[in-house]
Amino acid sequence: EAKANGRDQYSEYKRVMTAQVVDDFRREEQLRHAIEKGHLECWLQSKVDANQRWVAAEALVRWRHYEEWIPPNKFIPLAERLGLIVPIGQFMLESVARILPRARALFPNFEIAVNVSPRQFRSEHFAENVIRTFQRLNAPLEGLKLEITESLLVDDSDQVQQTMERLKAHGVTFSIDDFGTGYSNLRRLQWMPVGEVKIDRAFVHAGMQSERERALLDTIVTMGANLSLERVAEGIETIEQFEYLRELGCQQFQGFYFHRPEPALDWLKKLSELKVSE
Ligand code: C2E
Ligand code: MG
Ligand code: MG
Ligand code: MG
Repeated sequence: EAKANGRDQYSEYKRVMTAQVVDDFRREEQLRHAIEKGHLECWLQSKVDANQRWVAAEALVRWRHYEEWIPPNKFIPLAERLGLIVPIGQFMLESVARILPRARALFPNFEIAVNVSPRQFRSEHFAENVIRTFQRLNAPLEGLKLEITESLLVDDSDQVQQTMERLKAHGVTFSIDDFGTGYSNLRRLQWMPVGEVKIDRAFVHAGMQSERERALLDTIVTMGANLSLERVAEGIETIEQFEYLRELGCQQFQGFYFHRPEPALDWLKKLSELKVSE
């Protein structure tokens, strides 16, 4: 009986694994096709200051597959494994290079952030490529922010630091995304030209649930402050979360409570309306 059971489990395992491989394979084909045919879109979500004024935005990739939107969490990890994150990242950089000058023509200090995966960041000539892309599109690099993850800081290679320094010399700034969820090498963080941390929404949400969770949220925000880093709170969905994090000393806020991500041109239209009503 045990044997039969084992065999069942094995065939079940094989069935699931095969399904997974087939799924990945189909998704890979679809993703390559989407990149080639230009089915990816750049959306933007505003970030606000303590007075709820728009001061920045984050660019987020969107993939429309026929009638369905495939969320980034469903394809970014795959794209990262396949190296397809490089062309996707390039598409996002070009999109931001087109929008940033228009946003800054309206509000001179406006910043737009774009997410950069570790594999993309470590790809050959990454800094050079960012600089050239913006030059080619006549876009100054001031106001560009790159959201990177803590895993880049674990790596001891000087290459990451050199890439950052090179971009920083051109006015690019850096933010640690999902701060507190990875394994930061805090010692290394001290040396990196990072100016900001984004407090992950998991901490924000949990922090409203219990004393214990609140202590953790407070600690993470305070750590950012003690390291002289700007603090952006992510995933703000309620006024309570906003007020609490503002009290804690976060300077920027991002979340559905303020604005949802929307297509770049719709977003830009709102930004210019804001300028008119100023
Ligand atoms: P992230 O960089 O932490 O981006 C914030 C995510 O939180 C976005 O999800 C955004 O839509 C969502 N969000 C914003 N406000 C709220 C809120 O109030 N509540 C909730 N529940 N969610 C909120 P999205 O667009 O699905 O992206 C998920 C992740 O995929 C991103 O997390 C980022 O890690 C990755 N990603 C997205 N676009 C890109 C990209 O162009 N390149 C790379 N490398 N990664 C990307
Ligand atoms: Mg981000
Ligand atoms: Mg984030
Ligand atoms: Mg997050």
